[in-house]
Amino acid sequence: MKKPKVLHNFYKSDSWRTARELKIMTVDSLCERCGAIGIEVHHKVRLSIDNVNDTSISLNQDNLELLCRDCHNKEHKRFSKEDRFDKDGNPINPKKPQ
Ligand SMILES: [Zn+2]
Ligand SMILES: [Zn+2]
Repeated sequence: MKKPKVLHNFYKSDSWRTARELKIMTVDSLCERCGAIGIEVHHKVRLSIDNVNDTSISLNQDNLELLCRDCHNKEHKRFSKEDRFDKDGNPINPKKPQ
């Protein structure tokens, strides 16, 4: 099974952290859907190994959405343990905690 290491590296990159911080500042740290405190920056166009290096997608403010955890989980229709997100909004992979 292929591990999307490139995605992992992207989420650790300074350029992502910068784009993420900018997004959070732009929306005053509030979830863009319910107005709760937003903590997770979501990519409207899901990142994949094919588009992660396309900064018009991966770092485009228009493709980012600040969500609270509930809204983010709903967005991904994910409630199982293996699909949760950490506090930086990164998917938690149970096979690779870290
Ligand atoms: Zn919300
Ligand atoms: Zn998301």
